Amino acid sequence: MLDFTLTPKQSDLKQKAREFALKNVLPVAAYYDETDETPVNVIKKAFEAGLISGQIPKKYGGMGYGITEGVLLVEEIAAACPGIATSLFDNALGMEPLILCKNKKAKEKYLPMFAKKFKLIGFATSEPMMGSDVSGIRCTAIEDGNDYILNGTKYWVTNGGIADYFSIFATVDPKSQHKGICAFLVEKKWDGVTIGLTIPKLGQRCSNTAGINFKNVRVPKENMLAKPGEGFMLAMDTFSRTRPAIGAFAVGAARSAMEYAISYAKKRRAFGTNLSNFQAIQFKLAEMYQKVETSRLLVWKAAWEADKGMDPTISASIAKLYATEAALEVVNESLQIFGGYGYTKMYPVEKLYRDIRLYKIYEGTSEIQRMIIAGHVLAGYKSVMPSLEDLPIHRKKDPLAVKAFKKSTAWRCPICGYVHYGREAPDECPYCFFPKESFKKTT
Ligand SMILES: Cc1cc2nc3c(=O)[nH]c(=O)nc-3n(C[C@H](O)[C@H](O)[C@H](O)COP(=O)(O)OP(=O)(O)OC[C@H]3O[C@@H](n4cnc5c(N)ncnc54)[C@H](O)[C@@H]3O)c2cc1C
Repeated sequence: MLDFTLTPKQSDLKQKAREFALKNVLPVAAYYDETDETPVNVIKKAFEAGLISGQIPKKYGGMGYGITEGVLLVEEIAAACPGIATSLFDNALGMEPLILCKNKKAKEKYLPMFAKKFKLIGFATSEPMMGSDVSGIRCTAIEDGNDYILNGTKYWVTNGGIADYFSIFATVDPKSQHKGICAFLVEKKWDGVTIGLTIPKLGQRCSNTAGINFKNVRVPKENMLAKPGEGFMLAMDTFSRTRPAIGAFAVGAARSAMEYAISYAKKRRAFGTNLSNFQAIQFKLAEMYQKVETSRLLVWKAAWEADKGMDPTISASIAKLYATEAALEVVNESLQIFGGYGYTKMYPVEKLYRDIRLYKIYEGTSEIQRMIIAGHVLAGYKSVMPSLEDLPIHRKKDPLAVKAFKKSTAWRCPICGYVHYGREAPDECPYCFFPKESFKKTT
């Protein structure tokens, strides 16, 4: 049944990630933010410590981590630096289509290599002209003998400038939308692959983001991860398994913003006392803590569903949406507690504020998460309560009416909800004047 206890292995992994974050990530976070450089040496160290590519199944030489292990790990890294966490985790995103796909040969060729060697793999659905609407991919893949020929540009590719491999989503026909989308594992060294300049950003500046151009790039069919028509679902299934980690990034970063605010509030003095003695500040801290804890619960639930083999799509969207928006509120209040100092580069909250802002955008914006959840609420979700028209009638206390109800039939006006008791519906509703024919017989 319900159990929030981590296994000893999970606790050890969390502790290991925490120690790694405090020793190797936190001390360099401000430097790499300032210089806009990606700390490849830190990413490599994380690989050597077993903190990257852990989700590769054991049969391919990996550690066989689940989504739960992934979220435990990235919370700790993001707490120290959201940008470095994005860079580390990107291998999980890039590799997920390969792990999920049906192409055994591609798995056998690449997964053992990723498990053994320090190699980065990026993920690309987005393009310069589209991001949210994955069915609108324009990068083309045209069949030619034993190959497909790729042409087009992918944009916003995390680790695009430093990865050697990419999961690329393309289409056999841009007009065919979902039906034409396919996916390939593409190597950077292949002829016709060109990497763009690193895209300068507001936050997470140490995380490399670049465009990739394909000019007549010949991709062997054996590198196909999804056939035309199967690529869209492969991308969606990937997101369902990686969105909990974005929620976990937000938990980690918000947790740090909260901890810094607690520390500051306990020391900073105003009106002759510490800030932490003002109820207004205490309430802010309480809200922050509540948001961090709630977010983590949602993230863990989504991860748990994924690891149980359930469809985690809706829980993953809820976790991503809630945790990323809550994190922005938390860091905003943290900055407020710091007052003017929060707005400076002397303290870490300003960087967290910029870094956290990205969470509402990548891997599906907040608007897209709301669309997914709304789609579920309106179509997939099964209500427990009867429909309004079929609600049992209990409202009338009048004993005569109750007697009448027992003996005869009740009629409900579908517009205003008025219930009429009698063998026949009234000629018209006495409240909203809708005609007799619109009344529905009810029991
Ligand atoms: C730093 C960074 C790293 C990234 N890394 C990757 C990566 O590794 N791989 C990758 O493939 N992509 C990556 N992305 C791309 C990211 O996933 C997209 O930016 C995101 O999906 C939004 O797409 P867009 O920017 O094209 O915005 P658009 O899709 O053009 O949307 C613009 C705005 O309109 C809203 N909108 C769009 N459609 C609707 C609708 N139907 N209803 C309501 N609102 C709507 C959006 O929510 C958004 O607010 C990255 C982006 C950034 C900034």
